[in-house]
Amino acid sequence: MNFDEERKTMVEVQLRGRGLKDERVLKAMEEIPRHRFVSKEQEQSAYSDHPLPIGEGQTISQPYMVALMTECMELEGNEKVLEIGTGCGYQAAILAKLAKEVYSIERVEKLSLKAKEILAELGYTNVKLKVGDGTKGWEEYSPYQALIVTAGSPDIPQTLLDQLSEGGRMVIPVGGSFSQELVVARKRKGKVERRKVCGCVFVPLIGEFGWKR
Ligand code: SAH
Repeated sequence: MNFDEERKTMVEVQLRGRGLKDERVLKAMEEIPRHRFVSKEQEQSAYSDHPLPIGEGQTISQPYMVALMTECMELEGNEKVLEIGTGCGYQAAILAKLAKEVYSIERVEKLSLKAKEILAELGYTNVKLKVGDGTKGWEEYSPYQALIVTAGSPDIPQTLLDQLSEGGRMVIPVGGSFSQELVVARKRKGKVERRKVCGCVFVPLIGEFGWKR
């Protein structure tokens, strides 16, 4: 199987074909080997138009959703960004290409360790991972110019808003435990503007300021 070809087709058909335009995001999606982040059994489906299981009952989002969420972060290259839900580390790798520093929190240690391994193998040096409850954010390195939550939350955790810089963007699926709306929240002059992007389905964000379980 020619993964490079598959990746090119994925970008043309699934991303560009559906209206995504941020050239930096499209380039990152074309370069990063998504198949390296999933198990051998899933490798053949790595560039298909759907989410994939990554173990521990969790999933990696469909390529379109990864690209759409990243586009909504409006990254130019100098940002410090925070991701909640490292999972297999694929989204973190995309962010590492597009921002200056990436901080990512995962509650399942096993997933975080695996992500760390592959990110090191692929040579990313600007990603820092931590195991813990991401609904509390990562105060130490805040504020962040952009923040992405890759699990569904009942609401936007205030702690995360507090760690966003002025003008910062947060992308987060908000809603019930089975389906949500993708929301972009932007901090402007201390106020929070919210914009709904589309419907989506994510695994639940479990933590103090998310779902209690
Ligand atoms: N961005 C990931 C997608 C992972 S799916 C990727 O590219 O693979 C969402 C992840 O969020 C799951 O791994 C889940 O364990 C994690 N998660 C759920 N609640 C969390 C919380 N409170 N803090 C950190 N991670 C959480």
